[in-house]
Amino acid sequence: MEFIDEALLAYCEEHTSQEDALLLKITRETQAKVLMPRMISGHLQGKMLELFVKMLQPKTILEIGTYTGYSGICMARGLSKSGKLITLDINDELETMVRGFFKESGLASQIDYRLGNALELLPSISGPFDMVFIDADKINYAKYYDLVIDKVPSGGIILADNVLWSGKILVNPGQKIDKDTQAILDFNAKVQADPRVENALFPIRDGVMVARKI
Ligand code: SAH
Ligand code: CA
Repeated sequence: MEFIDEALLAYCEEHTSQEDALLLKITRETQAKVLMPRMISGHLQGKMLELFVKMLQPKTILEIGTYTGYSGICMARGLSKSGKLITLDINDELETMVRGFFKESGLASQIDYRLGNALELLPSISGPFDMVFIDADKINYAKYYDLVIDKVPSGGIILADNVLWSGKILVNPGQKIDKDTQAILDFNAKVQADPRVENALFPIRDGVMVARKI
């Protein structure tokens, strides 16, 4: 997933505030026990999310795609005492592990972790969401965007992860495009064409789209 030079990435991480014991433990246990451990946010992106929250001071954050809780804990750490994080995931096999990590973070009372298909859960979750982190199945990115955009107030931000899709978004003429890549291409084009937001695609890790509601 990393296309930035390894030595440069190592240098970036050496100059990014260190992960604490809990984040290192989540990474270790994800690698040891969970399928597709590459999906975890990791050091650089986790700290970036935490800093975004500290800068923006959202009252409510919505995360679509909890996985093992790494990104959620990073974001929750940036919240003020009255802030909350709603985080959704379809994979109930991870529930016990994730609830354990949330408890260990000391932030469980601010984290509303819901299991289910985000497409079905979202219509009944009322906003406003001052910050949204879209990081679930790529095929539904555009749908998630449509389901949340009217619940994000002016000045709120929507972030979407993996929007460079390991570089597969660069398609040669005549090349066959797989479904996930097409979904990411459609999502990026949709955000770029949406007059309701101003946006920038940051080439951090696997690419993060940042869209601010005007
Ligand atoms: N945000 C996490 C990584 C998320 S990985 C981190 O950075 O650490 C993507 C997650 O999306 C997986 O846990 C998967 O179970 C979840 N997911 C996939 N399809 C979903 C759906 N339709 N509804 C809710 N969650 C979904
Ligand atoms: Ca991701």
